[in-house]
Amino acid sequence: MFVKLATTVGAGLIFGGVTAATVELPHGFVYLADVAPTIRQDIRYSGAHNFIGRPVQGYLANECVLTERAAAALALAQTGLAAKKLSLVVWDCYRPARAVRDFLAWSKVPADSRMKAEFFPNMDKVQVFALGYLASHSAHSRGSTVDLGIVPSNLRSLPAYDRTLPLRPCTAPKGERFEDGTIDFGTGYDCLDPLASTANPSVPREAISNRILLQRHMQRSGFKSYSREWWHFEFADEPFPQQSFDFPIIARRSPQANTQAKASLFYTHRASFKVAVLHRHNQRHQLCRYRI
Ligand SMILES: [Zn+2]
Repeated sequence: MFVKLATTVGAGLIFGGVTAATVELPHGFVYLADVAPTIRQDIRYSGAHNFIGRPVQGYLANECVLTERAAAALALAQTGLAAKKLSLVVWDCYRPARAVRDFLAWSKVPADSRMKAEFFPNMDKVQVFALGYLASHSAHSRGSTVDLGIVPSNLRSLPAYDRTLPLRPCTAPKGERFEDGTIDFGTGYDCLDPLASTANPSVPREAISNRILLQRHMQRSGFKSYSREWWHFEFADEPFPQQSFDFPIIARRSPQANTQAKASLFYTHRASFKVAVLHRHNQRHQLCRYRI
């Protein structure tokens, strides 16, 4: 069931003297970009714009990886939004278990609170686990949970994070907090604050209706919402309800590159096979050893 991944970037499959970087994901997982390429991606834990302020362990690429089922359901939600000239933007998808351990280790170092002013302006960092904003086992590690919002379809590009600018609280009104390009949801993403509770009535009316819009589209596509975080959705019919995965998120290669790599590997295999045939054509009973 679990196809072994070349767990480190640079590791490869060696055959016939040729090394080919492998791009295999565990069986049942896909890159969202291969299923729903119009969904915007800004995987926050692969960079510095998150509540820790640095890339999180296991996130080696800015790529959304999900189970096939969850990705297909997300593509359905995207289709529904496209009619309204809107698009989904994903901030986190599958989360390696080692990233959760990284969160836990970070929470135990009170001095490292460099992102507090933006992501948990009203909370001490030791509370983020105690209050349930983070857990020692994340639903994201099962591969069918996603954090996301909505942007206008015609948004040219997602606003870039400039770490040299002063941090602004995620609880501030839109226009005053970090501009993430979304329609107004009342807070920024990963805002560890009660204002981010999905049904909190204290956010502007427009933000309330936008949260309902997101919830409806996601629920119609088979996802369950989470009362504490308006951006968090779990696919109800998830294929791995009891499992936690820990493979790292590595760069996706284009489908064309994958095809070329597979062709190269095929020809390498075939050449090796021919050499084996020539070398042992008088020992036909042993040729089966070289079949691929
Ligand atoms: Zn989440």
